[in-house]
Amino acid sequence: MSEKISGIKTKLDWSAYESYGSFGGFDSFDSFGTSDAAPAESGGGYAKAAAVCMGKRHCHNKDKGVMCPSFRVTNDEKHSTHHRAVTLKAALDGNYGAHPFMSEELTAAMSLCVSCKGCKSECPHGVDMALLRVEALAQRWIALGRVPLRERLFAYTPRFAAHLKRLNWINTLRERIPLIAQGMEHWLGIAARRSLPQAAARDFLTSQPQAVTANENGREVVLLVDTFSNHLDPQIAQAAWDVLQAAGYKVHLAKPATDERPLCCGRTFLSSGLIDEARAEATRLLDAITPFAARGIPVIGLEPSCLLMLRDEYHALGLGERVTALAKSALLLEEFLAREHDAKRLTLPLKPLNEKVLVHGHCHQKAFGAMTAMQKVLRLIPELEIEFIEASCCGMAGSFGLEAEHADISMQMAELALLPKIRAATPDTQLIANGTSCRHQIRDGAAREAKHLAQILQRAMRNDPTR
Ligand code: SF4
Ligand code: SF4
Repeated sequence: MSEKISGIKTKLDWSAYESYGSFGGFDSFDSFGTSDAAPAESGGGYAKAAAVCMGKRHCHNKDKGVMCPSFRVTNDEKHSTHHRAVTLKAALDGNYGAHPFMSEELTAAMSLCVSCKGCKSECPHGVDMALLRVEALAQRWIALGRVPLRERLFAYTPRFAAHLKRLNWINTLRERIPLIAQGMEHWLGIAARRSLPQAAARDFLTSQPQAVTANENGREVVLLVDTFSNHLDPQIAQAAWDVLQAAGYKVHLAKPATDERPLCCGRTFLSSGLIDEARAEATRLLDAITPFAARGIPVIGLEPSCLLMLRDEYHALGLGERVTALAKSALLLEEFLAREHDAKRLTLPLKPLNEKVLVHGHCHQKAFGAMTAMQKVLRLIPELEIEFIEASCCGMAGSFGLEAEHADISMQMAELALLPKIRAATPDTQLIANGTSCRHQIRDGAAREAKHLAQILQRAMRNDPTR
């Protein structure tokens, strides 16, 4: 029996969906296998965003595309986009009691969604389950009255990232003494079998004294160094800096306007359902970058899930008009270089690299069509042999693969196509993965190190055969 649920005050701004179905109406849809496709009674724009699912179940197709990794790996429709949309609608209709976000049904339906955005790009109706899940998670924490420790640990990574290098010894001990890993699994829910990220001895922003490159007359760009590229892989940020400088751009480093802590897009907070904290990070970033974006200066990012958040989820954070200008300026490095090449403005001093690269695309690169740009930029390197891996999500998906209850399914996702392809590659084949999670998954699953596109370009500029 359905139960009326009290009005939901959503944490995200769903107003973009408010007019959805107004013309032609939801009644004409054959959604959820019934003739009644009207959105749930509670939830307003959020309910309408769930009702975008029309029930034709393209998400149950495993033959092509990337949608939906959890269905692909389980072959169970209870882990498909469609089932998630149906369950969310039922929850908002009050079918799972007065506290729908705490219900077993909704929790189980959302449990294996890796927020890959495959549905947003491949579902014929663009169901954005990754964002629907964020709201469901935020509502769950409200109903629970707290956010669990593990989720807070993952979410707050950018706030304590500067201290991570002092904690590397814990990682080393954890790897040497299984009892410590087992204890962390027991107390924190972090999978004992997975490695944890190691911070670099010196982060990029501290070691880079310049705030802007010396190319006084070059076209201006802003390099936005995310938490992961700054603290875990500063060599990637350095490579991007070198590449842009060598190409003659006047590169500004994105720095906070008022305090010392580096900028952060807010991705880890958003993924964990901590929307107020994500909004606070996004506001700091907007304060720092809007003056550049307002002048039409490209804002270049390296980590797909961080940079693309500026073009996507920022619209749902209710941050006003400034987001529109920023979204127009925000580009991944590969998108920027491909665009410059098309405009005949790119002068990268690339020398031949006589080797093969095997490329794994991050889910969000695929969802936003950035893989074409990857291909275009890699083709600029003479003699380079390029192969793209046809795979869905790598399975790491931020913290998903580190969570004890998800570690096995995470690896199964990687084993669908990605890891077998990497194991079949010759040792001298260079692996490319622009996502920090993807590189982590490849390291854990195939004991191989993948590089970022920026590092390959840097090597091609130096014609450096060393890895
Ligand atoms: S999620 Fe998309 S593909 Fe799946 S049933 Fe709904 S509308 Fe169809
Ligand atoms: S975001 Fe990815 S895992 Fe989640 S429902 Fe969509 S396609 Fe499936």
